[in-house]
Amino acid sequence: MSFTKEMVDEGVMKVPEWWLCPPGLEEFRKKAHQVGRDVLLIHSMTVDEQKMFPKESLKAMAEAGFGALPLPKEYGGLGAGYKGFAVAAETFAQYCASATMVWVMHTVAVQAMFTIGTEEQRNRFIPGVLKGDIGALAFSEPATGSHFWNVVSEAPKLDGGYLLDAHKSWVTSGGEADWYIVCTNYPDPTPDKGDTLMFVIVPKDAEGIESFPFSAMGLRGNSSGPMKFNHIFIPTENRLGTEGGMNQYNDQIIDPLFLLGTSGCWIGVAQGALNEAIEGAKMKVHKDTGKSVSGYQVIRHEIAKAQIIIDSARSMLFRVAEAMDKAISEGKTLDECLYTLWQLKTYAADIVIQVTNMALQISGGRGYLTGRIEKFVRDGRAGALMGPTNEILREWIGKSLIGVPWFETWDYRQAK
Ligand SMILES: Cc1cc2nc3c(=O)[nH]c(=O)nc-3n(C[C@H](O)[C@H](O)[C@H](O)COP(=O)(O)OP(=O)(O)OC[C@H]3O[C@@H](n4cnc5c(N)ncnc54)[C@H](O)[C@@H]3O)c2cc1C
Repeated sequence: MSFTKEMVDEGVMKVPEWWLCPPGLEEFRKKAHQVGRDVLLIHSMTVDEQKMFPKESLKAMAEAGFGALPLPKEYGGLGAGYKGFAVAAETFAQYCASATMVWVMHTVAVQAMFTIGTEEQRNRFIPGVLKGDIGALAFSEPATGSHFWNVVSEAPKLDGGYLLDAHKSWVTSGGEADWYIVCTNYPDPTPDKGDTLMFVIVPKDAEGIESFPFSAMGLRGNSSGPMKFNHIFIPTENRLGTEGGMNQYNDQIIDPLFLLGTSGCWIGVAQGALNEAIEGAKMKVHKDTGKSVSGYQVIRHEIAKAQIIIDSARSMLFRVAEAMDKAISEGKTLDECLYTLWQLKTYAADIVIQVTNMALQISGGRGYLTGRIEKFVRDGRAGALMGPTNEILREWIGKSLIGVPWFETWDYRQAK
């Protein structure tokens, strides 16, 4: 929303900058808007109509430095922290949800690689990321559905590496990414490793990879289809972390970043839809009453209600992101922010459904026609379904509030 000096002079209330952006990130946000307006917006309808992977948009994001956003500056990142990640996700999603979601998953994969990886692995993969390589997360499996932290696939040990066999149900950037972090099991972990979960890095050209098409209601440019990793030899140097014992990283990196980034994305989708609806309501004039749609009080009330809902979610987003930056600066891990992230993601994924529908109603029949408003409604619907789903998150929140453990450990060998 932008207000000119004249409008202010005419008594139009100005929305304070600090309400829209955490102090210190104003220029950063402007840059994200510029990439969004100049590139993501231009490609977004074609990406959706043709189910096209948003290569041009991702290239522009990487060229503007957003490809490795949370990494420290000495590794080529923007050093913008998690507040920067939240701001960028929220901004980009106002223009193209498909490109934003691919970028969010990529950012989580890059951060996981950076945090868990060895110096050698960082040096092998991060320079490519700075030039536009895309990373992806292959976690969810058909056998365990929404419980993506419990997988049944495994990669037993061979001489010099492991043999991976895994069927994955959804992989954003499937068949398009340059490398995948695949979550699997190591069948024989030493007892002190705690759990069997193991992460391996699979480059796109590994023999035995199969990816399948993605056709969905929204996020149609995401290429989030199933994948098969058939009998793939994984050299030891491509194991990310330990042989088993990787469950803690779901809580410390993968989930916190994913929950923050996707929340930003859903809030941005809601804002994008409302912005579009406001523009439309101002433009459409009824000849008989001489009023624009925005001239009706009931419509203005709907606009106000929608913006208040978005801003309440955005306030949560910035507050949680700030807590994450603080935790890291104090040498703590991000699992201490998990509870607040569950609330944030549940809320963001709920309100995007509510607000995109309000935007559609404000837009009338025009909103129902194939176009940007209708696309925002479809894109935003994915939020509540994406793991951890809103049902699961509400259960974890509820359990925490009544003071019982939220997580049950499970050994995949029980399913054999
Ligand atoms: C667009 C998109 C992109 C995705 N990208 C990726 C990706 O890049 N990588 C990846 O690993 N995964 C990805 N996923 C998968 C995602 O994280 C979920 O695992 C997936 O959406 C769950 O779908 P399902 O059909 O298996 O659900 P099901 O498990 O069949 O769930 C069906 C319903 O049951 C509910 N339910 C399930 N378990 C419980 C429970 N314990 N308690 C209460 N309710 C429950 C669910 O909330 C849901 O309403 C993606 C999903 C989508 C939609």
